[in-house]
Amino acid sequence: PPLIGIRAAAKTYETQTGAVRALDGVDLDIADGEFVSIVGPSGCGKSTLLRMLAGLDPCEEGELTLEGRRIDGPSRDVGVVFQAANLLPWLTVRQNIELPARVGGRQGRGTVRVDDLLAMTGLADFGERYPYELSGGMQQRAGICRALVRDPRTLLMDEPFGALDALTRERMNLELQRIWQANGKTVILITHSISEAIFLADRVVVMSARPGRVLCDLKVDIPRPRG
Ligand code: ADP
Ligand code: ADP
Repeated sequence: PPLIGIRAAAKTYETQTGAVRALDGVDLDIADGEFVSIVGPSGCGKSTLLRMLAGLDPCEEGELTLEGRRIDGPSRDVGVVFQAANLLPWLTVRQNIELPARVGGRQGRGTVRVDDLLAMTGLADFGERYPYELSGGMQQRAGICRALVRDPRTLLMDEPFGALDALTRERMNLELQRIWQANGKTVILITHSISEAIFLADRVVVMSARPGRVLCDLKVDIPRPRG
């Protein structure tokens, strides 16, 4: 079976002004080790799909599976990164990164050494600092460390660098690619940049405007720089 299976996934939000059909039957299989970018216009349901995959939002129609098992809540085998790292300001960078490992106990796939994560993301000298002492890009890198600390097989990212300036964003993308290549993770990345999607991923899923459906699913086969 695929690592992640998405079968006829649909979602309707009930709002005060009526029902909003956010997703309208999405089918995707994602294999272990793939780097998939999801692009599409604002409102086509990308974040909804990602939240459901993260187990943060229930899938009431259709079925989502992780390693053949129905997704019914957050999993220690899935790391999630959003646009803002939302680090806890009263904890050091190291303590923020360690938090999921502490909360989740030591069972499961185990944990990655925080020093290794800090080194991998160029934060080796910043573990004992507080979030406000770091730039925006560095805070996002700390957020990525936090998402990786329980050594999840899958990394879900929703516009992780969307709030950063263009140059920082470019550097972060190279770093993300390096992390992917070095660790064999499955990565699903939501971005509004089609060029970024093609540059980074080996597969680009384009979703269409409301209600969300898959418009096309492209295999990217271009030579890429090696990290
Ligand atoms: P995207 O990430 O592609 O911009 P979203 O998944 O955020 O799309 O949203 C898809 C649709 O669902 C949009 O029309 C949005 O307004 C609506 N929507 C998203 N979240 C909620 C919510 N919590 N309540 C009501 N409507 C929502
Ligand atoms: P980023 O690309 O992560 O946003 P910057 O371009 O702001 O980082 O900074 C580049 C480098 O400058 C960092 O990797 C770090 O070594 C150093 N730096 C940035 N902000 C700070 C800070 N608040 N305190 C100390 N060093 C910093």
